[in-house]
Amino acid sequence: MWIIKGLRKGVITSDYPKKVSDEELPPSFPLETPKECPFGAVKDGKLDPKKCLNCRLCNVPFGRKLDVDDVRNPLDFKRSLHVFFLDVGTCHACNREVAQLQGPYYDVHRLGIFFTPTPKHADVLLVAGCPTDGMVPVLKEAYELMPEPKRVLVLGACANGSLCRRKVEDFVPVDGYVSGCPPSPVQIIRGLLKMAGRDAE
Ligand code: SF4
Ligand code: SF4
Repeated sequence: MWIIKGLRKGVITSDYPKKVSDEELPPSFPLETPKECPFGAVKDGKLDPKKCLNCRLCNVPFGRKLDVDDVRNPLDFKRSLHVFFLDVGTCHACNREVAQLQGPYYDVHRLGIFFTPTPKHADVLLVAGCPTDGMVPVLKEAYELMPEPKRVLVLGACANGSLCRRKVEDFVPVDGYVSGCPPSPVQIIRGLLKMAGRDAE
């Protein structure tokens, strides 16, 4: 009954924060004393997110803030976001970080982020791994099945082509990257919030 009432009257049942402050996100790994990047990800004072493995050895001033880069095309959504996660060839570490998001510590539901088992209900396709022969058709099909407006956010050094010959954007249009190997759950949350136009302040 309340569903019908809600649909008719457009009742907002949950008030997810429009902007999410750092204080509302659980702390990431503590960053240590500043060090030079051993992987050459910092050049002329700028971070190259595609080279950054998120090893957290450094404390570059932008280390925590600039962990999500190049979200080109944020969605103009009200507040909630439905996400379909696809592993196209990972070592499984990215998956472990994504799996943390729904647990009680990160609890992304309180921010209005939900994972859906089908791309047909998804706003965002979250992809990790090096696209394998077997998964390329699955990746393309998942993208095709998503309703408009849709966005693709890729996670980690494999998916963005830093570690692999193939990258996700060789097969589907990509709207944003979250760097790391693997990215931390907080970085993934920031990427999703940014994609929803609700990036952390
Ligand atoms: S976190 Fe990134 S920038 Fe910092 S040391 Fe590791 S790879 Fe280099
Ligand atoms: S980016 Fe790193 S953690 Fe993620 S799948 Fe690739 S190797 Fe594994």
